[in-house]
Amino acid sequence: MPRSSTMTYVCECGTTFASTMYQTVNVTLEPQLLYRLLAGSLNVAVCPNCGRKIESDLPFIYHDMGRGLFAYAHPNAEASDEERERLLERLRQVYDEAVDASERILAEERSSETASQPTPRLTVRRRSPGEDLSARLEPNAPPMQVIFGREQLVALVDSLLEPEERLGRVALSARGAGPEERERVVSIAERLAEQFDLQVETEGIGSDFTVWVYGPRAQIETLAAHLKGQA
Ligand SMILES: [Zn+2]
Repeated sequence: MPRSSTMTYVCECGTTFASTMYQTVNVTLEPQLLYRLLAGSLNVAVCPNCGRKIESDLPFIYHDMGRGLFAYAHPNAEASDEERERLLERLRQVYDEAVDASERILAEERSSETASQPTPRLTVRRRSPGEDLSARLEPNAPPMQVIFGREQLVALVDSLLEPEERLGRVALSARGAGPEERERVVSIAERLAEQFDLQVETEGIGSDFTVWVYGPRAQIETLAAHLKGQA
């Protein structure tokens, strides 16, 4: 499964643009994606012309190895019971196929090995009847959860964070500024974000333009102290 792909969108305003959508979100490897999820910008395409947001309704895998969360996230919370059942059935199928394939590979490898050279292997446990998608594909991997709805995922992820890890953000206002001034504010925001290991998101267009710098609350507080010291 690819980690992400570039999708092309056509906005209601007529603009065609490309945006990166993630199929696998591993926040242990890419911590910035955790904050994009919390800030509401993960898998959301923003039209560069009119600022309209298009939320992707494609499911993705969310994996936080450190906090033990492994989930199949279906952004649409409005899915009907039948849709949910169909999806769960498909997941069980994909899961069983993956387990079968691993077992076949392991069996082939075992038969080609000499008995004198045992090699440590990934253990694959098949789910027992009645155990719903909670079997483990790899040792120490947490059970996979199925989550419907972007907000439900955000609430769960947020509940696993320490207070200083929660989302913080500051706005650098460019309200009423001209295009050149807006460019300048964005470049200042990007420099600060790089310095303090944070991210930048712009909101609105024209006179409503705002630049947000966001990330872990602890780093936002350090940035705020830095800005205060400069004022
Ligand atoms: Zn547009």
